[in-house]
Amino acid sequence: MNAIVLSIGDELLIGQTLNTNAAWMGSELNKNGVELIEVLTISDTAKSILEALKYAESKAKLVLITGGLGPTKDDITKKVFADYFNAPLIENKEALKNVEGFFKRYNRDMLPVNKLQALVPTGCEMLLNKAGTAPGMWMESNNVVFVSMPGVPSEMKYLMEHEVLPKIKKKFKLPVIVHQTMMTQGIGESYIADKISDIENALPQYIKLAYLPSPGIVKLRLTGRGENEASLLKEIDFIFSKIENRISKHVFSKIESKLEEVLGGVFRDKKLTVSTAESLTCGALASRITTVPGSSEYFSGSIVAYSNDVKINQLNVSKDTIERNGAVSEEVVTQMALTAKSLFGTDYAVATSGIAGPGGGTDEKPVGTVWIAIAGPRGVFTEKFQMGKGRDRVVEKTIFSALSRLLQLVN
Ligand code: AMP
Ligand code: MG
Repeated sequence: MNAIVLSIGDELLIGQTLNTNAAWMGSELNKNGVELIEVLTISDTAKSILEALKYAESKAKLVLITGGLGPTKDDITKKVFADYFNAPLIENKEALKNVEGFFKRYNRDMLPVNKLQALVPTGCEMLLNKAGTAPGMWMESNNVVFVSMPGVPSEMKYLMEHEVLPKIKKKFKLPVIVHQTMMTQGIGESYIADKISDIENALPQYIKLAYLPSPGIVKLRLTGRGENEASLLKEIDFIFSKIENRISKHVFSKIESKLEEVLGGVFRDKKLTVSTAESLTCGALASRITTVPGSSEYFSGSIVAYSNDVKINQLNVSKDTIERNGAVSEEVVTQMALTAKSLFGTDYAVATSGIAGPGGGTDEKPVGTVWIAIAGPRGVFTEKFQMGKGRDRVVEKTIFSALSRLLQLVN
């Protein structure tokens, strides 16, 4: 069964609001066996909305609409929705009670426009929105289901979880969709494809393999569609293991996960601790490590040593070392890591120093030059990287490289 999402709102078109609703709905629909074939983002104009409704009706069995249900003049979805189905708006008692309850709860006076939120087109089923005041609307026409929901993400999610998805599952016979994901690092997607080409070529048509690259990481996802969940899972599991065997040294997780989460698991299991001394990343590495719940068990602290004074006074880097080698050098990161390790009393300490740009590069050390050092129980590991251009990208790639080298060292 296929679906189209209509995302209505000028704010989405001008990049003021990110269309997180469509992403969330895509993922939920997929989990439930509904194939989302298109996402259309359109403006708050009657013409665009009418055209999009007509188009969606011609292509999909389910049309999920968000946005344009606010009480203000700029939101016109409900009126256009009613016009499209030739269904005049009438007051819904239950929806009105919900709106009144909302204003009572927050001790606010209800304005006449708020009362209008309880209007719904005749012939549609009102979906009670306990997370807000604008009701959802379920309309069936010519064998197509149209659902209109508010744009506010928390309200859309409430309606999807409590009303829309249960009703979809009841109305349609949906196939089973199963996914299995592995996370790899240190190998590009084309090299993976080359190593597993025979496995990929032999995949049955109901199992698909996707390569999802991001800086430093390639996510591999197997997706199977069918009727019988158990047999599909078994088959996917078998193919998954075959792929894993081919590239085992690059696989850092057999479920969808972030590098810092996997690292956290290893540190916790092995009862190890880590700290950081950061120049280039300026605390961003520490911050990334501590996005993992429970990271206080293994992360001690960080020294942000952006200036040379801090490197000299807090991290025992000698002035002479900086003058001779520059702040972005193997000698400096080595000393930074060693001092952090002893200062924090951790098993490992990671130090970063580099040139994020856009200025500050030289012929010898162009923008993107980065040194990472990791002091550990068996000495200090150091590596020089060339991260390319783009300030944010250089920092992001440095965080990734530091975490990935640390994982290799502790594994
Ligand atoms: P509306 O239902 O059009 O009044 O939308 C209310 C608010 O929800 C807007 O101000 C947006 O910030 C947010 N919103 C609307 N559509 C989306 C969307 N597709 N993804 C994320 N947020 C949205
Ligand atoms: Mg709007």
